[in-house]
Amino acid sequence: MSTSPTHATHTNTANAAATEAAKPSNFLRQIIESDLEKGSYATRRWAGSPGDAAHHAAGQTDPAKIRTRFPPEPNGYLHIGHAKSICINFGLARDYGGVCHLRFDDTNPEKEDTEYVNSIIDAVRWLGFDWAQIGQAPGSAAPYQASDYFDFMYRAAEHLIQAGLAYVDEQTAEEMRLSRGDFGKPGVDSPFRARTPAENLARFREMRDGKHEDGSMVLRARIDMASPNINMRDPAIYRIRRATHHNTGDTWCIYPMYTFAHPIEDALEQITHSFCTLEFEDQRPFYDWLMERLSEGTTLPDGRVVGGLLASPPPHQYEFARLNLTYVITSKRKLAQLVYDHKVNGWDDPRMPTIVGLRRRGYTAQSLQLFAERIGVTKSDSWIDYSTLEGCLREDLETKAHRGMAVLNPVKLVLTNWDEVMGAGHLEPCTQPALPHAAEGTEPPPARHFTIGKEVWIEREDFEEVPPKGYKRLFPGNKVRLKGGYVIECTGCSKDASGVITEVLATVVPDTKSGTPGSDLVKVKAAITWVGVANGVNAEVRMYDRLFLDAQPDAGGKDFIESLNPNSLKVVTAIVEPSLANAVAGQQFQFERHGYFVADLLDHVQGEKPVFNLAVGLKDSWGK
Ligand code: ATP
Ligand code: MG
Repeated sequence: MSTSPTHATHTNTANAAATEAAKPSNFLRQIIESDLEKGSYATRRWAGSPGDAAHHAAGQTDPAKIRTRFPPEPNGYLHIGHAKSICINFGLARDYGGVCHLRFDDTNPEKEDTEYVNSIIDAVRWLGFDWAQIGQAPGSAAPYQASDYFDFMYRAAEHLIQAGLAYVDEQTAEEMRLSRGDFGKPGVDSPFRARTPAENLARFREMRDGKHEDGSMVLRARIDMASPNINMRDPAIYRIRRATHHNTGDTWCIYPMYTFAHPIEDALEQITHSFCTLEFEDQRPFYDWLMERLSEGTTLPDGRVVGGLLASPPPHQYEFARLNLTYVITSKRKLAQLVYDHKVNGWDDPRMPTIVGLRRRGYTAQSLQLFAERIGVTKSDSWIDYSTLEGCLREDLETKAHRGMAVLNPVKLVLTNWDEVMGAGHLEPCTQPALPHAAEGTEPPPARHFTIGKEVWIEREDFEEVPPKGYKRLFPGNKVRLKGGYVIECTGCSKDASGVITEVLATVVPDTKSGTPGSDLVKVKAAITWVGVANGVNAEVRMYDRLFLDAQPDAGGKDFIESLNPNSLKVVTAIVEPSLANAVAGQQFQFERHGYFVADLLDHVQGEKPVFNLAVGLKDSWGK
């Protein structure tokens, strides 16, 4: 992100502070701490790159105390839920002297795209994490790709077949579904289950060699058709699929199933702790079964002992609750639908919960890290209130975002005595701090400069011809301060033929300029924001609101399109002070009294065409 030098200074300081702060414990930390204490993984070896047992046995003792991984499927842009997973996996590795692997889970040939691969790399880096760390072989800083392990996966499948632990099933998909049984009913053995290893091996090789149609047969693990866990009833582990893979091209016409591929990927990379979301809990018995079968020596029916393909001890899977955020959808598929149906303007639309969208909306990496820490990790699903996310951004920007004045709904205010008391055409320079409360230990940035003259822009709502009870701003006879400028006294207004107010009229009270001696002798009840007509700059301001009106837009199979908020974007032409017009794209500001805004990463042109996005209001408005 491009930021001004002062901005970067604050960012670094905040980063250091976040790292130093004591982290509250959670069940994942307890698991890791217990494993470190017991030395569960102390004997592991690491050869500098992923590989099988023999490969790692030739390596050194792993310099990484633990290995975690973040394994996205490159089939879409990452969202706030992934940010949680990234912060957990990379954060825990960092905190315990370990390494987190970025791994593209690209075993599904159809869906992947390099656009997504690049966006994932950017997102992880932007969030402040890196995967090229201790123990990696020189020159291997690239993320890992699951498709690089296809050869090993094939070998593992042949091994299972030879050990009598897998068979080729030629039932139709429907027959397989019916014979699997259900929760109350055990499954029924496939007629192909009793084939010999030699028959299965021959058949599997035919599958590999393209002798059979897509979908005509699958390789299944041979476990237990009566298991109370349906995932253990001989799950499919390889299927025939003629599709060109972005990495391996047309080398393969069979591809491993996710449930088979994922544990193997973890094991080849010497992952110690494989953290995933709760929906994978039922897969854990298969994960463990496969790890045991592939790491132990197996006695073949003919008495030979083979195996030990994967290094021991194998990785373990642990599940945590996925993030559910109110008013937000966290499913790549559904987010893709919003993009392709043009309900939003792309993956990086500031209303999207994607990392690119949040970033464009004005979210900082620190605010997302803070959010991940604040929500913690739990073992049961719950909904996090959207205001929690917004609160983290406000908290982060409070001491970082420079202040500035912007008038969002302008009406002109004319100081009718200005020429007389200040001199015709006079422009009086004013100055205000850019950051009234800089974070402790940081140097405050240079002050803002702007001018006041005969005409200034004020908010339309700051004038009432007939004031409602308790109104303290401009009405005939009342005095207010133009913030950082002078005290003025309202005298009336002008209107057009249809009664719309075209100008508010007032007189300036001399010798009341902010910061000059005696300026506070004239007491006022309110200070209002304003921008001088002479140096104000027109800016496009995009006022964003929640994308959905329903707090749980896709819960219980609801059609989330129906609860889209028709007013989630309102564009206004605002007038901003010079320091805002000179913003760098991506820089956050507090528009005084209005909220936090960011100079749009794509459309803002510094000093020429200011474009701002509303990031978050100053106060929580979600409950109202
Ligand atoms: P989606 O359903 O949006 O496609 P996914 O889980 O299929 O998500 P992956 O690319 O497979 O997406 O996910 C990579 C990692 O991110 C996984 O380990 C997954 O558990 C985690 N993850 C995905 N969504 C969430 C979420 N809402 N909260 C926490 N972690 C998540
Ligand atoms: Mg997925």
